[in-house]
Amino acid sequence: MDKNDHAKHTLEPHVLIFPTPLQGPVSCFLKLAELLCISGIHVTFLNTDYIHRPLIRHTQVLSRFRNYPNFQFETIPDGLEHDNPVSIEKLDEMIDAVNAAAKPLFRDMMISGRWSRSSERPVTVMIVDAFFSFAVELGLETSTPVFCFQTISPWEQSDELVTSVPGTQHFLRKRDLAGFCQTDDLSNMELQFVLQQALITPQTQGLILNTFEELDALVLPHIRKVCPNVYPIGPLHSLYRSRLLADTTQILENISSNSVWKEDKTCLSWLDKHPPKSVAYISFGSLATINVDQMLEIWHGLVHTGKPFLWVKRPESITGEYNESQVPNELLERTKEIGCIVDWAPQEEVLAHPAVGVFLTHSGWNSTIESIAHGVPIICWPYFYDQQVNSRFVGEVWKVGVDMKDLTCDRFIIEKAVRDVMDTRQGMFTQSATAWQNLAKESIGETGSSSKNFALLLDDIRELSS
Ligand code: UDP
Repeated sequence: MDKNDHAKHTLEPHVLIFPTPLQGPVSCFLKLAELLCISGIHVTFLNTDYIHRPLIRHTQVLSRFRNYPNFQFETIPDGLEHDNPVSIEKLDEMIDAVNAAAKPLFRDMMISGRWSRSSERPVTVMIVDAFFSFAVELGLETSTPVFCFQTISPWEQSDELVTSVPGTQHFLRKRDLAGFCQTDDLSNMELQFVLQQALITPQTQGLILNTFEELDALVLPHIRKVCPNVYPIGPLHSLYRSRLLADTTQILENISSNSVWKEDKTCLSWLDKHPPKSVAYISFGSLATINVDQMLEIWHGLVHTGKPFLWVKRPESITGEYNESQVPNELLERTKEIGCIVDWAPQEEVLAHPAVGVFLTHSGWNSTIESIAHGVPIICWPYFYDQQVNSRFVGEVWKVGVDMKDLTCDRFIIEKAVRDVMDTRQGMFTQSATAWQNLAKESIGETGSSSKNFALLLDDIRELSS
């Protein structure tokens, strides 16, 4: 490196990225990291061990990031024996372990500047998830500018309750909020956890969101009142894909694969055999679980529709004693004819496939925005956190599908919902879904809102690093 190169290199921003070690956030943070790398920013990506191990085992992430001399992975022990979490029931174990093991190490590394080991420049900016507020607190303590990146719905950011959010009084009910927001008990642990995140975020430089201005026009003005710098840059996977496609130096194979489970790509050739909008796609994300009875009700419902279905059934997502002998023969036989069941799918590619006509989902934010970006109508069966409010917006505001939160898991209800969205009201849902898909596309276009917000984020990172 000659003297000029050295001077230039030491002026480049160096961003430390630390996601919550879960499938959804890690996948989004990796996309953001790659977008920053393409823009010439040096990135150190910090994973805890138990998410890093399966990530590098099941993906091309390591080889992909070798394209970027300005990128490095770092890992931090979390004290967990197992790899990635298998269900929501294990979430507390993960949070406790990270707080006990990773938090003090993170502090040491931050204070000692160990991140700059293989970089010419110390960390100039941090991008973290407010989920672990210790990372934000350390940034503030060491005067390192911090941005929060929230990969769940922006609604989870609002600490105002239903009637106090202008513009939503006519449709947002208490039961559309996360379970812990429906209680008046302020000592509730989950509520405290979320409030802590909501209180610390405005102390940072800004909030990055995986949404776009038009989609969350109702909530973004409220968030901007408390966080002056808000950067909605979504749909992130679409922005990411379009930037990588535009960059001719990139190898495009597996560009979207950040899964900590092995993706079963055979379902894509199965989809190829089906006509447009004919297949029901079912997935409840990386954390939600169902019991055997619920699984059988869903299975009966799907088979009764007679429609082809692609179902992601993570083995760990079924709770209780389960083996195939509990499944009636009729279901197994019919599934061979019209079904495809996989442990984990390349979801972004599935939703982009023309054969998919509806998505039955737990309404996790990533699944919701991925479905919206590809114009696929949605049937929401929400479980926890922002999923309750996401499903209300799907049904009442964006009108791209139905909200099943008030209904029990029953085979006839599942069958009716699939028929409703794919047959009876198909025209209406497809029309709204296509309109939102077009707005999503515009937002990541050259002059679109998300592209502008991303450019602004880059400018702000550079200015804070100079
Ligand atoms: N996903 C995937 N394959 C699957 C199921 C899910 O790649 O078979 C991805 C999906 O594309 C999304 C993420 O896993 O990006 C799930 O995130 P979401 O916020 O929807 O739900 P969570 O798993 O956090 O509950």
